[in-house]
Amino acid sequence: MTSTATPVTLQFAAPRRPKPPRHLADLTAAERRAAVVELGGPAFRADQLSRHYFARLTDPADVDAMTDLPAGSRAALVADLLPTLLTEVSARTCDAGLTRKSLWRTFDGARLESVLMRYPDRATVCVSSQAGCGMGCPFCATGQAGLTRNLSTAEIVEQVVTAARTVRNGLLGGGADGGPGEPDDHGRLSNVVFMGMGEPLANYRAVTGALRRLTDPSPAGLGLSARSVTVSTVGLVPAIRRLATEGLPVTLAVSLHAPDDELRDRLVPVNTRWPVAEVLEAAWDYADVTGRRVSIEYAMIAGVNDRPDQAEQLGRRLAGQLAHVNLIPLNPTPGSEWTASTPADEREFVRRLRAHGVTTTVRDTRGREIAGACGQLAADPDAARPAVPGPGGPGPIVVPGPVAARRDGTAERAGD
Ligand code: SF4
Repeated sequence: MTSTATPVTLQFAAPRRPKPPRHLADLTAAERRAAVVELGGPAFRADQLSRHYFARLTDPADVDAMTDLPAGSRAALVADLLPTLLTEVSARTCDAGLTRKSLWRTFDGARLESVLMRYPDRATVCVSSQAGCGMGCPFCATGQAGLTRNLSTAEIVEQVVTAARTVRNGLLGGGADGGPGEPDDHGRLSNVVFMGMGEPLANYRAVTGALRRLTDPSPAGLGLSARSVTVSTVGLVPAIRRLATEGLPVTLAVSLHAPDDELRDRLVPVNTRWPVAEVLEAAWDYADVTGRRVSIEYAMIAGVNDRPDQAEQLGRRLAGQLAHVNLIPLNPTPGSEWTASTPADEREFVRRLRAHGVTTTVRDTRGREIAGACGQLAADPDAARPAVPGPGGPGPIVVPGPVAARRDGTAERAGD
């Protein structure tokens, strides 16, 4: 890479936009009860609505299925507390039906995407936390379009609840059809990764609100284990430190992609604000506080960050820490000047990291054909993206699947 690429402007503050309508998932259990009382109903109706939304996964469009609510007030309660936040514009599947990418439109026309993936031992949804992104990573399709706006807590939660309903209803491949007289077993949504569009920690309040809704015990929330939820970040250090104090021991994934500041300044522009050493120090402190192993994400780019000396440098930085490296084979998009590392270089990189005692796996890919991989989500699946101009300014690349099976076929859980 040369050093003449155009500097990237980081955008931390989201443009002011009208707020989405209030939704039950924006509120704590106590706030829901207060809202129902304000609407003239008894407080326990809030618990009934929560049970429908989080536990039974009732589609709010199917108001008549909520037979425990009085027929006369059912529609009004649902309209007030379960308004439509996301409309599915399209859904595309690949990997023999095991991967499904949904393009959503919000109430104000913003677009975002989520990707649902079935693995042998789990079903994972990758959600967006912002419409667009202000971090400007040159390898990322999302980053090229800039930040449209932050998503609300409920807009994030709704991606997860809809995914859970999709799995439950057998609309994701890989479920087991029961035989005659036997129930079907489509499994259930088990994992959530915040690796879709946006930098989650740049939308801190809404994301932590969503984390609480996802991990609150059912029926107040979805009742997912914090261990099965992964939040990725490019390294917003103050927010990592704040997250460690929330009592939400979710897995932290740091998108590192380079072992030194000179290269990382180029690949992940926010590095100019918080350099590698500071990011890793915050990550290790996060691991200390939560007891959770930090996942280090590293896209393998041929001739850019995959040299043996870079593996050595990374190995030295990570040795002895509660960390796991996910090497991510690059998946170029049209116009990209970057390519994936060769299998031989990849193997050598893994070997060197492991020689430092660093647990390392290589991700398989998911969703490539439908532009559903991490870094590929741009809410416009059919558009061919131009290369980023400027010498050394590569075109967007694709960082494949947020969570995947290992190449040897065994299951990998994000951050485990
Ligand atoms: S890689 Fe992540 S943080 Fe960087 S521009 Fe893309 S979505 Fe934003």
